[in-house]
Amino acid sequence: MKILVTGGAGFIGSNLCDLLLEKGEEVSVIDDLSTGSLDNISHLFNNPGFNYVIDTILNEQLMEDLISSCDCIVHLAAAVGVKHVLENPLSSIETNILGTETALKLANKYKKKILVASTSEVYGKHTHAPLKEDDNLIYGPPSTMRWSYAASKLVDEFTALAYHRTKKLDTIIIRCFNTIGPRQTGMYGMVVPRFIQQALRDDPITVYGDGKQTRTFTYVGDVVEAIYRLIKCKKGSGEVVNIGGTEEISIADLAQKIKELIGSNSEIVFIPYDQAYGKDFEDMMRRVPSLEKLESLIDFVPKTPLDEILQHTIEYFRARAV
Ligand code: UDP
Repeated sequence: MKILVTGGAGFIGSNLCDLLLEKGEEVSVIDDLSTGSLDNISHLFNNPGFNYVIDTILNEQLMEDLISSCDCIVHLAAAVGVKHVLENPLSSIETNILGTETALKLANKYKKKILVASTSEVYGKHTHAPLKEDDNLIYGPPSTMRWSYAASKLVDEFTALAYHRTKKLDTIIIRCFNTIGPRQTGMYGMVVPRFIQQALRDDPITVYGDGKQTRTFTYVGDVVEAIYRLIKCKKGSGEVVNIGGTEEISIADLAQKIKELIGSNSEIVFIPYDQAYGKDFEDMMRRVPSLEKLESLIDFVPKTPLDEILQHTIEYFRARAV
């Protein structure tokens, strides 16, 4: 099978390319390197089953060439990271909405299966758990730019579902919950690489707010396994599916855990949200996925324990000398 991975030089994308090639699939990548990196895929350059092009998914002619010549598309290219989206609100909305519309339109034209990556951000500010795919979504006002991320990915979901309903496009939408692991960078705000790098340098570990907000972190290796199984799955077309972990942890406890695993002398400091993200910021206080639908479709849920994921990620950063 020839699989096109948009955003394939990114953190999840490049880990997916590794798995697909291991499984004997052929892989094409398109990535504009806005948040991805050639370092993530350079080890694949000599693999005969791999090819890549550095360009934007907004280049419709190129996308048409790539989509018409593949069997299936995993559409991961998107603006990522809360910090990145807050700093680049306009280009983030454009990439998320126009890029996905292009990918869906062409997937429909050539009748190719397409997995569209969405995000747990879409749920908004719920505090109940677990979050199920058919839950209501709760957002704040548009003056709080964070919600533009959720809203733009929600438009992607609606567009994919509309293609499925009106044109019978074979599409699955995945909502990824805080994926972590090797190759994730802290440059766009993600908490785990930031805490690990701070702890390895004995710098202060910066917990935003009171640290009582919680997340469930998912190992990237488990996420790409789930994506692979969904590509091969005959069921699930026209469905929205959560992909996430099961261990809920507060951000303050996460800071302490990373400090202990590294044996760091870092101090843990608490930074008000307005200093971290500017004014008009709202955080999500809790985010725990229901995995029932995922399990029923592919007989697999992410189970790698948090300590093990953190150890892998710490080793990755140690090897790169921070
Ligand atoms: N966070 C933090 N310190 C940092 C970066 C992030 O305390 O240096 C917090 C952030 O405010 C949020 C959580 O960690 O409550 C997860 O943030 P991330 O950006 O990784 O993902 P999110 O779940 O917000 O999309």
